[in-house]
Amino acid sequence: MKYYSTNGQAPFATLEKAVVKGLAEDRGLYMPERIKALPQEFFDHIAEMSFQEIAYTVADAFFGEDIPAEDLRRIVYDTLSFDCPLVSVEENIYSLELFHGPTLAFKDVGARFMARLLSYFTRNAQSTSNNLINVLVATSGDTGSAVANGFLGVEGIHVYVLYPKGKVSPIQECQFTTLGKNITAVEVDGVFDDCQRLVKSAFMDAELNEHMKLTSANSINVARFLPQSFYYFYAYAQLKRMGKADKVVCCVPSGNFGNICSALFGKRMGLPVSRFIAANNANDIFYNYLQTGKYEPRDSVQTLANAMDVGDPSNFARIYDLYGKSHEAIVKDISGATYNDKQIAETLCQCLRDTGYQLDPHGACGYRALKEGLQPGEVGFFLETAHPAKFKTTVEEITGTEVAIPARLAAFMQGKKQSVPMTGEFADFKKFLLAQ
Ligand SMILES: *Cc1c(COP(=O)(O)O)cnc(C)c1O
Repeated sequence: MKYYSTNGQAPFATLEKAVVKGLAEDRGLYMPERIKALPQEFFDHIAEMSFQEIAYTVADAFFGEDIPAEDLRRIVYDTLSFDCPLVSVEENIYSLELFHGPTLAFKDVGARFMARLLSYFTRNAQSTSNNLINVLVATSGDTGSAVANGFLGVEGIHVYVLYPKGKVSPIQECQFTTLGKNITAVEVDGVFDDCQRLVKSAFMDAELNEHMKLTSANSINVARFLPQSFYYFYAYAQLKRMGKADKVVCCVPSGNFGNICSALFGKRMGLPVSRFIAANNANDIFYNYLQTGKYEPRDSVQTLANAMDVGDPSNFARIYDLYGKSHEAIVKDISGATYNDKQIAETLCQCLRDTGYQLDPHGACGYRALKEGLQPGEVGFFLETAHPAKFKTTVEEITGTEVAIPARLAAFMQGKKQSVPMTGEFADFKKFLLAQ
């Protein structure tokens, strides 16, 4: 399968090139040239299939031409080492819990898949020279933990996580500083933008690129974004098992719009979801686009659901392309909602009080948008994109109810912190990398 750029000015890329490069030469996002419809037979039997079997069928449609079946099956099965259960919250409203992975957020799925795919490519590389791939990632918290844990122990890859000293929460910090093995945490004396600048400079430095293979694990990477479609099919399978699979509505708390975009790819493959709701926090750029047909990015504002604080969602380009640049076609499939912090807080309390279900601030946007938008006769599920314990202090202050910390999160907190101190000067970072 070939991949084209949403900007249309770059040559087609192979899967390997799209994964290693991330972004096309014209700064566009890669799109698979075809989206295969899955056979009716698959949907007839989906309720009897395991999560891994379902995911492998979906993965085969995208990657089957490029990766031998045995390898692809192993990559998919290794990626999905945890469940994504659909849990009833109230009548006709279900939560698709995506927080049962190592770092308690949905980004684990894409990060784990990408790590295994990259490792497959390095193992099969023709050259006999040093094939080690070095992943550089700048993080303000959550991306670093998903990428570090996704790549942990994966052969042929070393990860450098750059994070701003003293600016990430202790819970987040321990998720990428206590791992050891092929993960190096680099603690930068500066802010997130300094970390990002160091990473960008490294990618542009000729001498450094001569010395070592560098790649990014950015969320726009096709290997992170396409595998997210797996769990939408699995959610449908679980609804079907319950006899609830008519008129299904899917609601996705959205920031960069990668997650909902993979759902829309799923629909193109035949996933029987009748419509989608994109739930925004106060960063309502997409919501406004749906109302007006005008896409007007602006600076993000900080909210309680901070992983959705995005002022120029990068995957808008993919959605726009998928729907042939037609606003009319987009609003036929997707509606929107937007909530400010006061409403998010209100929703955390309301849901806990009325149903006993503990939401996180991102899932709260999804739950509320679904509850407000669901029509009679419809059944809906929203994505619970992170475990509330990741936002423990915030959630507890709002609801006045303790959030228990899952064992796998507690285990990180007992680990020993290891990090390399770094200044914000590129010369220092370069010297460090050249010595590796
Ligand atoms: C990244 C993230 C989101 C937003 O997902 P997008 O794919 O960027 O729309 C929502 N919730 C949580 C917890 C996240 O980490």
